[in-house]
Amino acid sequence: MIPDPAHQSDEQRLRSAAEQKLDESPLSTPAVTHQELVHELRVHQIELEMQNETLRSAQNALEEARDRYVDLYEFAPVGYLTISQAGLIEDINLTGSALFGCERSQLIHKRFAASILPCDQDRWTQFFLGMKQYQQQGRMELQLQRCDGSHFCAQIDCTTEQVAPVDNALAAAAGRPGKVIRAVLVDITQRKRAEEEIYQLGFFDPLTGLPNRRLLYDRLKKYQAVSNRNQQYGAILMLDLDHFKTLNDTHGHDVGDQLLCKVAAELLTGLRDGDTIARLGGDEFVVLLENLSVDRQEAAALTERVAQHVLMVLGRAQQLDTIEYHNTASVGATLFMGMQMSIEELMKQADLAMYKAKEMGRNRLRFFDAAMQIQILEHAALEAALASAIEREQLQLYYQPQIDAAGRMVGAEALLRWQHPERGLVSPLDFIPLAEESHLILTLGTWVLDTACRQLAVWARQPGFEHLTLAINVSTRQFSEADFVADVKAIIARTQIAPQRLKLELTESILINNVEDIIAKMALLKAEGVRFALDDFGTGYSSLSYLKRLPLDQLKIDRSFVKTIHQNSNDAAIASMIIVLAKTLGLGVIAEGVETSAQKDFLSGLGCHNYQGYWFSPPLPLYEFELLVQPGVRSDIRTRSHP
Ligand code: C2E
Ligand code: CA
Ligand code: CA
Repeated sequence: MIPDPAHQSDEQRLRSAAEQKLDESPLSTPAVTHQELVHELRVHQIELEMQNETLRSAQNALEEARDRYVDLYEFAPVGYLTISQAGLIEDINLTGSALFGCERSQLIHKRFAASILPCDQDRWTQFFLGMKQYQQQGRMELQLQRCDGSHFCAQIDCTTEQVAPVDNALAAAAGRPGKVIRAVLVDITQRKRAEEEIYQLGFFDPLTGLPNRRLLYDRLKKYQAVSNRNQQYGAILMLDLDHFKTLNDTHGHDVGDQLLCKVAAELLTGLRDGDTIARLGGDEFVVLLENLSVDRQEAAALTERVAQHVLMVLGRAQQLDTIEYHNTASVGATLFMGMQMSIEELMKQADLAMYKAKEMGRNRLRFFDAAMQIQILEHAALEAALASAIEREQLQLYYQPQIDAAGRMVGAEALLRWQHPERGLVSPLDFIPLAEESHLILTLGTWVLDTACRQLAVWARQPGFEHLTLAINVSTRQFSEADFVADVKAIIARTQIAPQRLKLELTESILINNVEDIIAKMALLKAEGVRFALDDFGTGYSSLSYLKRLPLDQLKIDRSFVKTIHQNSNDAAIASMIIVLAKTLGLGVIAEGVETSAQKDFLSGLGCHNYQGYWFSPPLPLYEFELLVQPGVRSDIRTRSHP
């Protein structure tokens, strides 16, 4: 009903009077006349209505706030629980009951511990006691069970809260104030899974699922400490599959991987629970045997028994796809107690023993012994001496001539020599492999590259030498360095040589690395003008499909084929094939290790017209080499004496 304006203005008037009244003291003088009394009552009535209205809106606001709170509480992204001193769930929000996958009513007044998996019960009991007695807050992770029986992993954050005794019947009965535990529950299953995955990646080999090197070292370190206390010997077995590379090369990596997985599974079945079997990479496995015995003899006997078992298990025929493969392995073993030796030393010992087992004809066990210890010490001393060889100017390049069909010298190969103060001239065969085990090869490689380029720069200004090319050996590790291309370019720029005079000799082992990366690097240097030769060709992993893609200039027929070329038809056939291949690919070809004229003639008959070898000249120190090239000295250098 719409109030008429007259009435409305009356109403308004009364209202403002009431408002005024409200502001005034409630003890204002009472009206005396009847009219005044009615007026007063009206004012009072309106006053009450207004108070009512204020209360109503306050109530509304309160209700809204409560709804908001309930929403926040019920649908929060975490579960809220109140747990009584008796361990019962007093209250739980909707998210909480959703975490358990059931109705709230199914959880209220149930023991919270009933949903904890047995493996975590003890931890919870202790935690809960602590919370009840002295702790104000705490956090733990628990494995919980949902109502449907499935599991999840949760993090629970608890704080204690003092409640009035009336809220807590038991506490009230005991006459002391009660405590409840307010808990926040979060499902961390996903996070745990991710953590587990990271752990798995960091500590396990993805192919076989076995512990990796990191985890092995970790366990080894722990066991060293244990063995230090209990004086029990442990042992390391280093296993290497025989001829694994051949299997990989001939049947592909899938088949190789199959073998590795089968080997891993077989090894696991043959070992005791406490022992660790790890894969270090490739076909290398390591077994750590713990707590063998306090007696060295007995520990050795036990280790031998395990190793023989391993050899037997690995020696079983394996079905790999359609191939029946007869695998064998070589095992090196070493015993240890406590922490007398570093992990690296122990691994080195087992590794050396394994190599000795291979040398002795594979498929066998070798223990590390005193003679090997001497070898390790010598090895270490040599490595230390080599590290300072450059500073002490003990390194030198020797130059071995490369000859063409007409007997002219077209270039040389630079070969590294180490003038050791006590040992005399050390062969690169003795120290290059050593240097390749560490970063030393990079230092040596850079020195060789730098020295060779500086020599080329000198020759460029020396009459009779300008045409010479200089080949240097680049080890796979050196070539794989990220900075290799930049380093070569920088040295070329610094020495101002014609890049065409520099030839880099790579071996086929370079192809075990990322081939695309190798090709890209070669292409970059090739674009500069640098040349490439493939060294020791025919002895390694010769994949023709890769060969076609490598930007090479020359193949080098390995010495082993040249040696008996005119006696052994097989070698002759291989040499002949390499020559044909080089022609087909448009590459040059050079034979190395030519020691007799018969070999030279035979090679010439097959179509190879570039040679290097003692028949022409051994590698020579710079001064002697330069004498060979001097104008006036005959270009036919076949008159020298040979070692
Ligand atoms: P390589 O590259 O195959 O070098 C040829 C080796 O054959 C040289 O041995 C050379 O002295 C030897 N040789 C040359 N002509 C004949 C011959 O007619 N008969 C026989 N029996 N041998 C001959 P060297 O100088 O002892 O070098 C051995 C290996 O050491 C080289 O094999 C190469 O792989 C490596 N090497 C040498 N210098 C370097 C270097 O500066 N860097 C790297 N990374 N490796 C090098
Ligand atoms: Ca070479
Ligand atoms: Ca060679």
